[in-house]
This record gives sequence, C-alpha cells and structure tokens, in this order.
Amino acid sequence: MRTTRLLVAAATVTALAACSGGGSVEGTPGSSGVRDPYFPKAGNGGYDIGHYDLALAYDPDAGHLDGTATITARATQDLSAFNLDLKGLDVADVAVEGRAARFNRAGQELTVRPADELRDGETFRVTVRYSGEPVTVTDPDGSEEGWLTTEDGAVGLGQPTGSMAWFPGSHHPSDKAAYDLAVTVPEGFGVVSNGELTDERTRGGRTTFTWRTAEPMSSHVVTVAVGDWETDRSTTDDGLPVYTAVDPRQADASREVLGRIPEVMEWARENFGPYPFSSTGAIVDRVEDAGYALETQNRPYFPGAPDTVLLVHELAHQWYGNSVSPKSWRDMWLSEGFATYAEWLWEEDEGGDTAQETFDALYEGSYYPDEDANDSIWAFPPADPPDAERISASPVYQRGAMVLHKIRETVGDDAFLDLLRGWSGAHRHGNADTADFTAYVEKSAPDEDFTRIWEDWLYGDGRPDSP
Ligand SMILES: [Zn+2]
Repeated sequence: MRTTRLLVAAATVTALAACSGGGSVEGTPGSSGVRDPYFPKAGNGGYDIGHYDLALAYDPDAGHLDGTATITARATQDLSAFNLDLKGLDVADVAVEGRAARFNRAGQELTVRPADELRDGETFRVTVRYSGEPVTVTDPDGSEEGWLTTEDGAVGLGQPTGSMAWFPGSHHPSDKAAYDLAVTVPEGFGVVSNGELTDERTRGGRTTFTWRTAEPMSSHVVTVAVGDWETDRSTTDDGLPVYTAVDPRQADASREVLGRIPEVMEWARENFGPYPFSSTGAIVDRVEDAGYALETQNRPYFPGAPDTVLLVHELAHQWYGNSVSPKSWRDMWLSEGFATYAEWLWEEDEGGDTAQETFDALYEGSYYPDEDANDSIWAFPPADPPDAERISASPVYQRGAMVLHKIRETVGDDAFLDLLRGWSGAHRHGNADTADFTAYVEKSAPDEDFTRIWEDWLYGDGRPDSP
C-alpha cells in the first residue's frame, strides 16, 4: 500500500513537471503552508475554506476513526493542485467536484491534483474519505494535543496544529470556516462539540450527534469530546443557549462554577462588547484526561472542574482568540494577554486584587511563590516569542496582560474599556496581528504617545527599567 502511494507520488511530480513545460497549463500548485513564522507548513495556499462537513464514526474501544470530510473552498489562484493538512490516518480516496482526484502524501501534507484545473475565484468541493487510529501530537513545548484518548472515550484538542490528527483541512487560524460535524458512536456514549446540537438519533445500536457552527471558527479551537456526559441545557436572561457537558465524576465539583456561566457572560459582554457566537457552555472531563484547559469555541474544555477565574479566562477567549483570531502564532499574546487581563479585571470587580496590584506584584517579582517563575516573565518580549516552543510561555500571558495595563494607565479606565470593546468589534470573526493592534490603539487615542509601551513592554528585551 505504502509503496503504491510512493509510485503515484513520483508519477504526479513527473506529470506536473511535464505539463509546466508544455505551456497549456495555466494553474500552479497552491503552497504547502501559509508561512507562519513557527509552523510554516500549517495551513495551505491557493484557496480559502468556507465550510467543513465532517461525518465521523468513532469506536472508543478500538480507538478507530472513519471519516468523510467534505470541504467547500474558493480558489484564490488558478490551481493545478492544492494541499490539505492531515497527520497520520489512511486516505482511501479524494474527489474534487465529485470527480476522483489523484493525491499523494508527504508528512502532514496531503496533495490533491483535481482532474480539472480550478480557476481563481471558483468555489469547489473536495471530499476525502479516510480512516485509522488518530494520533496524539506532542507539541514543541512538550504538551499533548491532537486526539487524546480518555478514560471513557476521547477528545480532540487542536492548539496549535493538532486538529490535523483527526480531519484534513487548512489548519491555521488565518483560514476560518463554518462547520457541520456528525459523529457516530456506539449507543451509550455521548458526543459534545462546538456550536449547537441540531440532531441526535440512534439506529442499530449507534447514535449520531450532529453539531453545527455557523460562525467562522479556526480549526485549533474545534473539538469533539466522546464519553459519558451529564449534559445540561439552559439559557441566559437574554436568551443565549448554554450547553454544558460534565463527566459524572466531576459533576459535584463543577455545579457551582458552571452555574456562574450566565453571570460571567453578562460581565464579559459589558466589558468586551456583544458576544460573537450563538451559544455558550463548557465541557468538563476528568482531571487526568488532558494537561490543560482550552478555549474550544462556544464551550471551553476543562480537565477537571475549573475555578471561576479559569472559567473567566477561557470564556474571554471567545472574544479574544476565537472571534478576533491571531493572524499567525506570533500574535498569540493578542489571545493570551487579553484572556489573562480578563482574569485581572474579574478579580478587581469581585473585590480581590486590583489589576494595578497584580501588575505591581509581577513587576516586583512577588507574584509567584517561586523566584524562577517570577523571573520567567521577562524571558522574551510578548510580541516576539523566540521559537515555537515558547508561544505559550508566561511572557505571552503575563507580560501580554501588562502591556494592556500600561495602555489602561495611559488612556484611563473609560477609554480603555471602549478600546477593549472596539477592538473585539473591529476584527469580529476575523484575524489580527500586533501591528493591527498598535495602529488601532494609536488611532483610538491620537493625543497619547505609546512609543515607550511598544518599545519597552511589547517588543523590548528584559524587564523595563520602571513600572
Ligand atoms: Zn488562554
């Protein structure tokens, strides 16, 4: 099987080379990545995905996944071939616009060569049938993502690139799309995902759960969580659906904190502006099921019951990170710095430490009990992590939040809240980078000088000389 594919790959390369010399072919292959500074092969060039339709069947006992991904995309150049990101799994066949397409694989790149060339601006559908045992991906920083098997099922977590372990796509935040996911599991298992549950039906001992996300979503915050769930549906006072799914062993520990979701959402809307999505909630798995919480869209994922501050952090990401997504992984602080600052604001509003006190403790080195942890926030500037291993390190979170606090200090509380709301509105359902942010701040407060903040706090090495 593997040998056959290699031969096909070699034949494809020869064919492409022959055609390009002939002059009759105008299209060129789309690029294999979008030149992310840390994950250059993540995402793909030459097209833009609008919609994923994923039909998955998962057998938790065997750890086996069968999938059909139907992806609707628009070509952004004349295309003779294009790539999808897919890690592991076996591809049975690929079709473009219903016609069988040739394909080959190299590492995480699945190259598709449609029978007919695609024209710039053309909308096309690509269907990939695949199966196998999805893999767990170890990130450059040592954390695990991709497909994680849990005590009672599995969960897909994709920050930054792990979603390619369970479905083919353009796995970079710059290509957001709507999703329909239908996941079939043995009767008795539950499936939770993003968006809203639109259908649930059991036939022949198997249950299919259908979830729909209409708003644009980056693949790194797509999730599927298979297991034994206690689910609860309610609505906030203004009618926003709340859907929570909790592992029964975490039910008692989660009840009080999840009961505060409506209150946190109301507080967040006051501070961050209109909520960008059509439902909210949370997924609480067992403590040992993952090493971290993640802001999966609509309903964040928690390994074990979160405390309120962590809930605030992950819900704040719905505005900052999920609706306003980073343009590249270098812009991670626009996600984590904001979510961390949301924690400071919440604590301040709840009568705990003020954001100023939190800032001062970080600056003075008394925030963490451990000296190394206090020093670590000065390891590199938040807007420029040195490598992929450190895109989720503490400067991105804590020093990112300190940048926001410096802006608040400069413009005052009212203008700062206007800025938080304005920023989430200006890039709603889009992407932004650090340059977009500094330009936005400068335009919002044209009489202020932010030069020192950008030079010392955002881009500067080490601890600034004065707080
Ligand atoms: Zn976060």
